[in-house]
Amino acid sequence: MANKSKFQAIRGTRDLLPPETALWNHVEETAHAVFDTFGFSEIRPPIFEPTELLARAVGGETDIVSKEMYTFEDRAGGLPDPGEMSPDGFLNEIRRAMNSGQLANDAAVIAQLEFQLENYNLRSDSERARLIWMYFVRGLRLGDSISLRPEATASVCRAYIEHNMQQLPQPVKLYYMGPMFRRERPQKGRYRQFYQIGAEVLGGGDAPAIDAEVIEMVMTFFDRVGLSGIELDINSIGHNAPDCRPAYVEKLKAALEKAKDKLGADSQRRIETNPLRVLDSKLEHEQPIIATLPRIADHLCAECAAHYASVKRQLELRGVFFKENWRLVRGLDYYMRTTFEVTAKGLGSQNAVCGGGRYDGLVELLGGLPTKGIGFAIGEDRLILSLQESGKGAAPHGRDVYIAWMGERAYATAVRAAKDLRNAGFSVELPPTESKFGKALERADKLGSRYALILGDNEVSEGSWTLKTLADGTQRKFTEPELLEFLTSVKVSGERL
Ligand code: ATP
Ligand code: MG
Repeated sequence: MANKSKFQAIRGTRDLLPPETALWNHVEETAHAVFDTFGFSEIRPPIFEPTELLARAVGGETDIVSKEMYTFEDRAGGLPDPGEMSPDGFLNEIRRAMNSGQLANDAAVIAQLEFQLENYNLRSDSERARLIWMYFVRGLRLGDSISLRPEATASVCRAYIEHNMQQLPQPVKLYYMGPMFRRERPQKGRYRQFYQIGAEVLGGGDAPAIDAEVIEMVMTFFDRVGLSGIELDINSIGHNAPDCRPAYVEKLKAALEKAKDKLGADSQRRIETNPLRVLDSKLEHEQPIIATLPRIADHLCAECAAHYASVKRQLELRGVFFKENWRLVRGLDYYMRTTFEVTAKGLGSQNAVCGGGRYDGLVELLGGLPTKGIGFAIGEDRLILSLQESGKGAAPHGRDVYIAWMGERAYATAVRAAKDLRNAGFSVELPPTESKFGKALERADKLGSRYALILGDNEVSEGSWTLKTLADGTQRKFTEPELLEFLTSVKVSGERL
């Protein structure tokens, strides 16, 4: 019996549907336009990458890499199907592929295959032997480990290195948008497939003006899409040298040790593993303790302190309002100096809509030359949620003109009129089958059409077309050229009528 249970989108993923998709497009078009005015160009990296790249860039100990990545084995291309050849033939193919470098040379894999063949008599022609062999072979890890990207900075840096972009005029300014994947607990504003819009500035110097301009661009974009009531938090986390962040982290550790008994289990553990993360804690009872901890701003080296002061001056110069937040930190070594975050209203605890910062060591960590870097990632899903909650959702997509036609001759004219109107940029609904004018007008109304163009055989032979305004029922007669002229005159550029 056929299984008739309905399919559903996988937990944590969702369909973006009309009319909401119009808002998504509007947000993305605004990003293209604003980022372009700041001299950024788009990059579209693949959505899967070698697991090793992501592990190195995002950090093997982070939750993202250790728990949340969708990782799978990619079967090496061109390998034979084990079901189509003898076990010895398959073994020889694997040997050949390893010798030619098509497959990672792994003696253990060969040894395992030989062991199975020697000890379990799998060369016999019996169906059972074949099944056991297939089961075994399919379980072998012969392919590369790849992962769906949980973020895109790693990809952009890989591409920068791979395509020798350090030979281009520096810095290289790139932006991207697209889906990211993290196996998190789904909740409002947190999905397993979510969308980010981000940008990176790679190469060149680390002048504070670069940091300030990147932040200015983010805030300009938010302003342009109409996201209001947001807050920009900034901080500097110094850099990874003995007289700067590491010295601070030691002081922080010592202070945390003293207060250890009053901290929760997670924070206690983090004193050793990642003390900066304790500052992230949202636990109520830890807040008074955190308030007394040493602050990194008081422990920055002279250059980092000067850089931070200059970033703040540069932001003021650009009229960008910010709040200093000494608890805004990043746990990885290559993050340095400027960090920032934008939070929005109405999103509950998932209120961060953008995170960013400087990461001067990352390109080198991925095998490139020492390269300065700074970037950010905006959570598009949360941005859209926030826009909708403040009443800026998309209007349903109507039609400019619904063509109500009746009769063979009228139909030919209707097809031509639809083509002309569409070429002039109007949204036109041309019903595929004939219907009575009453029915047609009803449907035009349901589709949210602004006008109905009424074409019967009479109208066509007289060359005088009737245009009905659906909102008030008024009608006017036009010749064909007059109609186009009229519609063009009432259309606001780029908008639906
Ligand atoms: P959070 O603290 O909210 O988990 P994060 O530190 O994991 O955020 P980043 O890795 O800095 O976030 O990603 C940048 C932005 O991407 C976040 O500010 C957020 O808007 C968005 N984002 C991150 N994870 C998700 C998710 N699972 N679903 C929807 N948006 C997300
Ligand atoms: Mg997260």
